[in-house]
Amino acid sequence: MKVTMPEFVTFCRNVFVPVTNVCRNNCKYCTFRRSPDDPDAKLMTLEEILPILKKGKDAGCTEVLYTLGEYGEEMPEYKQWLSDMGYASTVEYLAELCRNAIGIGLLPHTNAGVLNYTELETLKPLNASMGLMLETTADLDAHVSSPGKVPSTRIKTIRYAGELKIPFTTGLLVGIGETLDDRIDSLQLIAELHEEYGHIQEVIIQNFTPKPGTPMADWPPPTDEEMMQTVLIAREILQHDVAIQVAPNLTDPYVLIQCGATDLGGISPVTVDWINPEAEWPDMERLRKMVRDIPLRERLPIYPKYVKEGFCSDLIKDLVLSLSDEEGYRKV
Ligand code: SF4
Repeated sequence: MKVTMPEFVTFCRNVFVPVTNVCRNNCKYCTFRRSPDDPDAKLMTLEEILPILKKGKDAGCTEVLYTLGEYGEEMPEYKQWLSDMGYASTVEYLAELCRNAIGIGLLPHTNAGVLNYTELETLKPLNASMGLMLETTADLDAHVSSPGKVPSTRIKTIRYAGELKIPFTTGLLVGIGETLDDRIDSLQLIAELHEEYGHIQEVIIQNFTPKPGTPMADWPPPTDEEMMQTVLIAREILQHDVAIQVAPNLTDPYVLIQCGATDLGGISPVTVDWINPEAEWPDMERLRKMVRDIPLRERLPIYPKYVKEGFCSDLIKDLVLSLSDEEGYRKV
């Protein structure tokens, strides 16, 4: 398959807020997750989050990425922490965090793991876009202790997001035990969901990176060839209005751009990648060098098509319009 080099590659300037690391799942490659009784378990308070948001706004960011462990409420200690802060559920707290971000001038993109229809409906008007990695449609040993990683459960969330017209980010985690056929199956499923609802704005092709201290510490990461092949296949299967995103702090983006990747995701000038804290974000100078002769173009957490088609709610519309140029990218 012949891939045309893109006219430019996009990225989004963001702040990354790991709202809580408490998670009901226990994925075998994860170093982020904590049980509530772990001394490092954390539910960030509004007082801790506000200065990060303000710092991000001052640094020119347009997005706050709220990422967190899934359904901490299933654990009584966590539920008590939430209740002590005055919230009945994580989603109720997230809604408050989103309102604060919008007030400061940042567009929220929330990835809270699996959510039901009502929870997504609550968060939709307060988010420019939302996300949930499909990871894979295969049942894998890596997910044996993770109820939220049952593929049908995740597919349901992505489908609900489509019904609710939420511009959505999903993706594959490559190299966690799935086969090539599984990757193809996952990409076809995403393409089918986009065909039905038209809401998938980007698909992340993320390479698994083994982390010390996890059960998969010695598991081999995917080879460069596997990553290139997956991006090529993704470009072939996914519709042309779906961007393919690769992470420049985890892989060399240039070779993957040659295979069809068009986006570098959220790059933060003020916060680390809390899921892969060992992998530093490149700064703008480094990012420019990484993509060599291809221009970079900054976008918002909502892609231009969705800005133009009016997917955003009245609550964020003015902010989106004030941050975007006439084509729907970040106003410079
Ligand atoms: S769902 Fe996410 S945070 Fe929870 S254990 Fe899995 S990778 Fe870690």
